[in-house]
Amino acid sequence: MMKQFNVAIIGGGIAGLVAAIYLAQAGKSVVLLEKASQFGGRAKSAKKNGAIFDFGAHAIIKGGALYEIFQDLGIRMDGGYPGLNVSFLWNNKVSHIFRFLISRNLSWSGKKEFMKFSKTLTTINADSVPAISLKSWIEQELHDPMARRIAYAMFRTNSYSQDPDHQLAGPAIRSIARTTKKNSGFFVQDGWQTLVDQLYEKAVRSGVSMMTGKNVKEIEHDGSVRKLKFADGEEMNITHVISTTPPAVTSRFLGDTGSKSVLRWKDQARVIKVASLTLNLKRLSAPDHFAVLGLDQPVYFVNQSKFTRLSEDGTSVVNITKSNGTGGTDPKADERFLEQMLDLIQPGWQKEVVARQYLPNIVVAHDFMHIGREDRFPGPAVPEIAGLYVAGEWATHGENLGDAAAASGRRAAQRVLKDIEAGPKSTIVV
Ligand SMILES: Cc1cc2nc3c(=O)[nH]c(=O)nc-3n(C[C@H](O)[C@H](O)[C@H](O)COP(=O)(O)OP(=O)(O)OC[C@H]3O[C@@H](n4cnc5c(N)ncnc54)[C@H](O)[C@@H]3O)c2cc1C
Repeated sequence: MMKQFNVAIIGGGIAGLVAAIYLAQAGKSVVLLEKASQFGGRAKSAKKNGAIFDFGAHAIIKGGALYEIFQDLGIRMDGGYPGLNVSFLWNNKVSHIFRFLISRNLSWSGKKEFMKFSKTLTTINADSVPAISLKSWIEQELHDPMARRIAYAMFRTNSYSQDPDHQLAGPAIRSIARTTKKNSGFFVQDGWQTLVDQLYEKAVRSGVSMMTGKNVKEIEHDGSVRKLKFADGEEMNITHVISTTPPAVTSRFLGDTGSKSVLRWKDQARVIKVASLTLNLKRLSAPDHFAVLGLDQPVYFVNQSKFTRLSEDGTSVVNITKSNGTGGTDPKADERFLEQMLDLIQPGWQKEVVARQYLPNIVVAHDFMHIGREDRFPGPAVPEIAGLYVAGEWATHGENLGDAAAASGRRAAQRVLKDIEAGPKSTIVV
């Protein structure tokens, strides 16, 4: 029989680590259960020949929930700011944003519209935007086809979502508006693993029991949470569980007698998938191409190492990502496509490759704020099962990506604390 805990958390990514630390700091006995051999989930980084490969290009936005929560937890976040060093890929050519905006690619009225739109993004109150799709909002604000293209590319890059017909305008605007402030978005020095490592240390020092290789298979319940069952046959009696896995996985844990709410969260979810290629390159043939947004292709290229340290020997670490919308696509075809885009952005790159990491069809978000989300704000409590809570970036209450992961983790922890305080639930001892 395993040790008794007040709270068990399933999944040791950002959401789980954040929830665990807040609960332990509030004096609860907490176990963090991760099925992989390491904590961090999609925030982990890999190291190859001294170069750091995040799980795709990962940026932090100052003013977002992740930044605020990590500051609250005393997590150090060093990094570098790209600022307005952006170019566009259009018609197989890369042009710096300023050159592009004054070029004939944009009509006179398009230029005027886009200037006004850029100003709107810095001043708009996102809360005042009605519950319309991003597409409806962009097409209401902009009429010039090229100005619209630029706007779509900006929003796609901010969320990796390629689903403007469904993406809710308000949360998307709130998120992008933060990036328009000077020195707001930054790439983390030595990669996101440095953040995971600090969260891990903090969790251990706060008294969290950290368990890897623990693959949860079932949450046993009878209207209240009773027990966790693991793939290795072990069981754990428990009364409070936070599941940070995607809603489809949490739904499987509950089996046929599951919760209507979790089923609805699973059914309403729209996934954001991408294909991501990260390369460690000895030399760049076009060092001025720092960050490139595709206007006629759903791609985003960034040389993160231009802005922060990502290799021991100073060689470059670059990433190119193709947004795949909500569906999966052919991994081989996506890889070829990304390589062709790189031929345009960094010609001759193949000769310079030291190491590469290709991640096809990876999930950036298991759900996001979209039209048709019946429960706009899923969780943190699961209404039908006392003692069960959800977190993870999909359980967003308006935040974007990592911000949603961190915010949902804190939300779940706060709700557990409130419920424990209200009683009568406490650890069942058998
Ligand atoms: C290509 C890419 C680029 C991104 N860029 C950014 C960015 O620029 N900025 C940003 O803020 N965010 C970005 N994100 C999103 C960010 O990485 C995620 O939102 C965040 O890491 C998700 O954290 P999480 O804890 O919700 O989920 P996860 O990290 O997925 O953690 C869930 C954990 O649960 C574990 N688990 C699953 N099943 C079980 C089980 N049965 N038993 C036990 N454990 C289980 C998993 O192994 C995993 O470790 C990006 C993501 C990708 C893929």
